[in-house]
Amino acid sequence: MIITTQKPFPEILELLSRHKNIFIVGCAACATKCRTGGEEAVNLMAAELEKEGKTISGRKILDTPCDIRVARKDLKEIAACADDAVLVLACGAGVQAVEKAVSLVVYPALNPVFTGTTERIGLYHEYCSLCGDCILGKTGGICPVTRCAKGLVNGPCGGAVSGKCEVDRDNDCAWILIAEKIKNNPSDKNILKIFVPARTVVKPGRITPPVKK
Ligand code: SF4
Ligand code: SF4
Repeated sequence: MIITTQKPFPEILELLSRHKNIFIVGCAACATKCRTGGEEAVNLMAAELEKEGKTISGRKILDTPCDIRVARKDLKEIAACADDAVLVLACGAGVQAVEKAVSLVVYPALNPVFTGTTERIGLYHEYCSLCGDCILGKTGGICPVTRCAKGLVNGPCGGAVSGKCEVDRDNDCAWILIAEKIKNNPSDKNILKIFVPARTVVKPGRITPPVKK
């Protein structure tokens, strides 16, 4: 899921400084789980903006605001509001889907931080950086591109101490985790002999090609 944090409120106010009437859009998916874009966060944002003299012209929490079809269907009612702005409590994908769905100017209230693996609400791990060329099948299901501080794809640098990364002693060495995983699964031992060729990872900006029939 996309992990988000709320922008500092003064920054949001600055973004909205030219607008009096604000429609707030929330996200019932990732941002609700992060507690940055669900009902509670939307209501809190509305109350804070009202204190600053804004008028909340409406609020709606979309199931998946990052889906342009959902945004178009659920936001039909605000298409006609000529003078309002829309404040979106969702990730950048959500903000941009909403931008396509409405003619009003759209502002982000959140900062997307990373794609998170959830351990529990409030504790998220950055285990994948969406590199576009997944090598988990060669690394025991543990990603060194993201979890090794140096992004090494062919084994450790040799600097780990007691299983901890030499760059940040608070983090496990990804390659020691990989070796341990494979050691405990003998059928996968040959995985460690696989050489992962140097590659150029182009990100962001990947465009999914159309599906050929
Ligand atoms: S190799 Fe790592 S960063 Fe790349 S897609 Fe797989 S998990 Fe994500
Ligand atoms: S100690 Fe391990 S995780 Fe840290 S940089 Fe070296 S190989 Fe990567």
